[in-house]
Amino acid sequence: NTPLHELDPDVAAAVDAELLRQQSTLEMIASENFAPVAVMEAQGSVLTNKYAEGYPGRRYYGGCEHVDVAEQIAIDRVKDLFGAEYANVQPHSGASANQAALFAIAQPGDTILGLDLAHGGHLTHGMRLNFSGKQFNVVAYHVDEAGLVDMAEVERLAKEHRPKVIIAGWSAYPRQLDFAEFRRIADEVEAYLWVDMAHFAGLVAAGLHPNPVPYADVVTSTTHKTLGGPRGGIILAKKEFAKKLNSSVFPGFQGGPLEHVIAAKAVSFKVAASEDFKERQQRTLDGARILAERLVQDDVTAHGVSVLSGGTDVHLVLVDLRNSELDGQQAEDRLHEVGITVNRNAVPNDPRPPMTTSGLRIGTPALATRGFGTEDFTEVADIIAETLKPDFDADKAASLKARVTALADKHPLYPGLK
Ligand code: PLP
Repeated sequence: NTPLHELDPDVAAAVDAELLRQQSTLEMIASENFAPVAVMEAQGSVLTNKYAEGYPGRRYYGGCEHVDVAEQIAIDRVKDLFGAEYANVQPHSGASANQAALFAIAQPGDTILGLDLAHGGHLTHGMRLNFSGKQFNVVAYHVDEAGLVDMAEVERLAKEHRPKVIIAGWSAYPRQLDFAEFRRIADEVEAYLWVDMAHFAGLVAAGLHPNPVPYADVVTSTTHKTLGGPRGGIILAKKEFAKKLNSSVFPGFQGGPLEHVIAAKAVSFKVAASEDFKERQQRTLDGARILAERLVQDDVTAHGVSVLSGGTDVHLVLVDLRNSELDGQQAEDRLHEVGITVNRNAVPNDPRPPMTTSGLRIGTPALATRGFGTEDFTEVADIIAETLKPDFDADKAASLKARVTALADKHPLYPGLK
């Protein structure tokens, strides 16, 4: 029972340093969040020791009576949260959930229609080097000049290619999708509709974003983004897909489920059903809106910086640097220097290479979890706007960093955690 700090000081030092980084900087990577201590407690529990191939009540191992309880709670809660007929809480990650889902409803060689990676789609929606791009015939739709998903193109491509599956979902898109319209198009060409709500699941749970579950045949998600739980994946679906999806996850792609993570998922679903969670998601949306509004003001746009689609109605803002001398890498580095963590991101028709890019993806979920409200997000937006201006130098960086530190100190993260 030797504690980590004694048994392995090297790894303990890395963990401690990461805790300090999270506490002392402002985390604005749109796909990240801070899991509650209770979630981490479940994830760090003895459930990590248990093999439980199969599903609750139908396991291939003895001694599963307690993990059965935790997994069933997770299933029941997530079905309630999203109004789903079926749920599978075993996928180890979002990509695993997507792989299992796609292979349950399509065969290798079938045509799939998804949002182009360079226009905000995810790797698992048909990227060339991913299983989806290697094993399926991929047709991609795009965003239009205004930065909105081009539903006329979706319909045209669907009619032309008659895909087996239409994928609605994104990793970098600042607006809501029209699920009813996707459903109509899918029905017209007899395709399955799969929605990947990994990014916006927390907003859906809070009732602040349309719920794709009534429209889609299959819905996948991660549990660690806006949803705020442990790293992992889930699949929701209509009852008729239950058997295929269960066997696609296990034994199709996975062996033993991570019951400690599943217990942590169950805890996070309880949190996500609370009024506090709803209030937090509202602050997440407010923060993103404040940031977008600040970055379209004249003193910023004068320097070639703008915001894709002109704003946001989700938890993130996509900064467009195509007309700026600053590229995505430089902007990411500058923000890092003042203590704000974001990721550079290609924008549609990006003239710069993928390692440099002409965009930034900036999200508010983690800061909202930390307790940031309207006033704090206004200050964050001002700091970001100042950081992106051409007069950025060492003196300015130091004063902006002091403002970041003041915000971090105002909203302590994991107080008392060591
Ligand atoms: N789906 C979407 C839309 C995502 O944005 C991501 C992650 O960024 C994933 C799936 C994959 O999740 P994971 O990183 O857990 O495999």
